Amino acid sequence: MIRRTFHKHDVLCAAEGCDVPVGRGHMFCKGHYFSLPQELRDQLWAAWRAAMAARRGTTTIAEQARINRECRQAFQNCRDYLRSAPTTSAAAMATVAIAASGEQVRFVNGRRL
Ligand SMILES: [Zn+2]
Repeated sequence: MIRRTFHKHDVLCAAEGCDVPVGRGHMFCKGHYFSLPQELRDQLWAAWRAAMAARRGTTTIAEQARINRECRQAFQNCRDYLRSAPTTSAAAMATVAIAASGEQVRFVNGRRL
């Protein structure tokens, strides 16, 4: 029997060539995430929220598939961008995300304020 033990740090940054542990629920390490242009981050968040929303309620399978494709595409766009982008210094890491409620949520160093 193969013993599999999963720890939260088993998840690594999705940027190519980056093996920084990010923990479950995160896609990129801080350095890579904050290197993304606001536009790409916004698209990723919007696509992800849409995908999460589509898992509830009465969304058809076809619609879910379309939304999931968009989510993967947004994610892929981010990875493509990061292939050629430098990482951001920790000092510059502050961003604003839009919560599901529509209000702005501020993050500094990846932590919600
Ligand atoms: Zn990374």
